[in-house]
Amino acid sequence: MKTFYSPAHLEHDPQVQFEGGQLLPAVEIPVRAERVKAEIQKRRIGPIAAPTRFDDKPILAVHDSGLVEFLGIAFDEWIKRYGRNAPAAIPSAWPAHGLRDGRKGDIEARLGSYAFSADTPIMKGTWAAAREAVNVALSAAAAVREGEKCAFALTRPPGHHASSDVFGGFCYLNNVAIAAQWLVEQGLKPAILDVDYHHGNGTQTIFYKRADVFFCSIHADPSFAYPHFLGFADERGEGPGEGANLNLPLPEGTDWPRYEEALVRAVDAVKAYGPDVVLVSLGLDTYIEDPIALFRLKAADYLRMGACLAGLHLPALFVFEGGYCFDALGELAVNVLEAFQGA
Ligand SMILES: [Zn+2]
Repeated sequence: MKTFYSPAHLEHDPQVQFEGGQLLPAVEIPVRAERVKAEIQKRRIGPIAAPTRFDDKPILAVHDSGLVEFLGIAFDEWIKRYGRNAPAAIPSAWPAHGLRDGRKGDIEARLGSYAFSADTPIMKGTWAAAREAVNVALSAAAAVREGEKCAFALTRPPGHHASSDVFGGFCYLNNVAIAAQWLVEQGLKPAILDVDYHHGNGTQTIFYKRADVFFCSIHADPSFAYPHFLGFADERGEGPGEGANLNLPLPEGTDWPRYEEALVRAVDAVKAYGPDVVLVSLGLDTYIEDPIALFRLKAADYLRMGACLAGLHLPALFVFEGGYCFDALGELAVNVLEAFQGA
């Protein structure tokens, strides 16, 4: 299993995040990817390679050019308004219900118009890290395209909450969606299976009206969990995409037996779609000790998850998403990858 990784992610290092009515220590921080990288080296599941540079075309095939341009300049605009010592651009007003869209407005209007939540700060190194994460995902996609049985994109920041024209949920550019779209353009038929604790609302939205990319997500029911507004079971796709979207929301406290039922259902649905390649949005916040989530999977369950995914008998591209129990992240990720590779 070849892993793609870039140290550019270290440049995105948030200190705090707005959560539950207060500023708390940030959880989407560099140690996450560093722990996974260390475990990959320790357990020797394969080489770690630097990504190659892709131009903006694959990004613009998925994302609105206004969002991409804004992400590139947002922090500069922010410090022009709030001074050099302002640590991070965070939106605090949104154009909800009847208010005018602010995408041509001042920095506050633009932030509120391009973000759907206040948990996703833009800092000095954010754009460089997010842009390089796309190179990581596309390099891994290219490896699979060239015949690798599986590859792992150790991306950070994550991507699955970012839709075509809105960022949020610690995500700026949707790495897995950009990779899937690129694979479509290479003539392949991809399916995306999102196993992050949180629903992949961004990925769902990007492909919702399309039949050429299947999207399935197993996640905490949005009736009690982030991202709150999407991820319900009745969202099945629209127009040509009708039937190409499958949400499997699960209750608080879900443990392996219950999770496995959903995973088997997801695997069967992916098989029925008949893809050439599967992209796995590999979030690890389903772990029992995760500080921001309420499922109860244990470390050994991630070996079972990897073996179950191997039952797809498809080339696979794993893309790192969430997961915040820093001490366990490496073990959980490598358990999935090793079991997939060994099955
Ligand atoms: Zn998550």
